[in-house]
Amino acid sequence: MKVTDIWNTSPKPTLSFELFPARSEKAASNLKKAIDALAALKPDFVSVTFGAGGSTREGSRQLVEKLKHQMGLEIIAYFACYGLDPDDIVAVLDDYQALGVENLLAVRGDVPHDGDFEPHPESLPHASDLVSFIRPKYDFCLGVAGYPEGHIDAVSKEKDFEFLKMKVDLGADYIVTNYTYDNRHYFDFVDRCRSAGIKVPILPGVMPIYSVKMMERLAGLCGAEITDEIRQGIAGLPEDDKQALLDFGIELAVRQCAELLQAGVPGIHIYTMDRSKSSVGIVQGLRDKGLL
Ligand SMILES: Cc1cc2nc3c(=O)[nH]c(=O)nc-3n(C[C@H](O)[C@H](O)[C@H](O)COP(=O)(O)OP(=O)(O)OC[C@H]3O[C@@H](n4cnc5c(N)ncnc54)[C@H](O)[C@@H]3O)c2cc1C
Repeated sequence: MKVTDIWNTSPKPTLSFELFPARSEKAASNLKKAIDALAALKPDFVSVTFGAGGSTREGSRQLVEKLKHQMGLEIIAYFACYGLDPDDIVAVLDDYQALGVENLLAVRGDVPHDGDFEPHPESLPHASDLVSFIRPKYDFCLGVAGYPEGHIDAVSKEKDFEFLKMKVDLGADYIVTNYTYDNRHYFDFVDRCRSAGIKVPILPGVMPIYSVKMMERLAGLCGAEITDEIRQGIAGLPEDDKQALLDFGIELAVRQCAELLQAGVPGIHIYTMDRSKSSVGIVQGLRDKGLL
C-alpha cells in the first residue's frame, strides 16, 4: 500500500521504523532480534536504507524482500543515487518494482567513506535529478528527505529550502525529515513548507539517544543541534550507566513524540540504528498515553 494512502485512510498517526542492512554476521544476528521486537509493535511500515555508491545494494534488496515478503511489513525502500551509472539506477529500481515495492524515498547520498570510489560520469548530482529521473518512468509513491535545521552542506537555509520545493514540484509525494532534538525546528520547517505551497505530508524522523558517542558523531555529521536540556540531563546521570542513558533518551523521545503527535503530525518515524530497546520503550510510553 502507498504510504500516502495509509495517511489518507488511517484513523491514527502512523508508526514506522528505519532499518539498515547488516554488514557483519554479528550485526545480522542483532538485526534479526531487533526486527522481531519491532515487528511485534505492529508498525504501519518500515524503511530500509541504501548505501551511497551502491555499497549495500544486495543487502538492502535482501532486507526489503525479507521484511516485505517473509514478514508481511509495508516498506519504504530508500534509494541513494550518488555516483551510480544511470543503467544501475534503472536496474535497482526495476528490481524493487518487481519485488512489489510501492514506496521509494529518493536521496542523493553522500560520498562513500571508501576513498577509492569513483562516481560514474553520468551519475545524478542531486536528489532533484533523481526525482525527475524516476517520476515519468515509475509509479512509486515517492518521498524525499527534508532538513528542519538545514542540510549540513547547504549554501544557505533559503537555497536548501528552494531545492526541497523543487523536489516536491518535480513530483515527490511526501517528505521524511532528518531528526532534530528540538521540535521547534520541525514546526518552523513545516510552517515554511506550507507557506511556500508545499502540501505533501511531512513525516518527522526521531532519533533516540543510544550512546553519547553515537549522539555526538551523528549530530556532527548532519548538523543537528544537541540542546542544553540534553547536555544538562546527561551531565546529571551516573557516569558510564548505559541503562540510565537509554532511559533518559526514551523519556526525552516520549516527550518529543507526544508534542509532535498532539500537534497532528502524520506519524512518528524512529531511526532505530537496528536496535529495538529504545523504540519499544518509546512506543510503550506513547501507547500508555493513548497517543499511538
Ligand atoms: C529521511 C532520510 C533518509 C536518508 N536515507 C539515506 C540512505 O538510504 N542512504 C544514504 O546514503 N543517505 C541517506 N540519507 C542521507 C542523505 O543522502 C544525505 O543527507 C545527503 O547529503 C543529502 O541527500 P538529499 O537527498 O537531501 O540531497 P539533495 O536534495 O540533493 O541535497 C544535497 C545538498 O545539495 C543542495 N542541492 C540540492 N539540490 C541542488 C541543486 N539542484 N543545485 C545545487 N545544490 C543543490 C542542497 O541544498 C543540499 O545541501 C538520508 C537522509 C534522510 C533525511
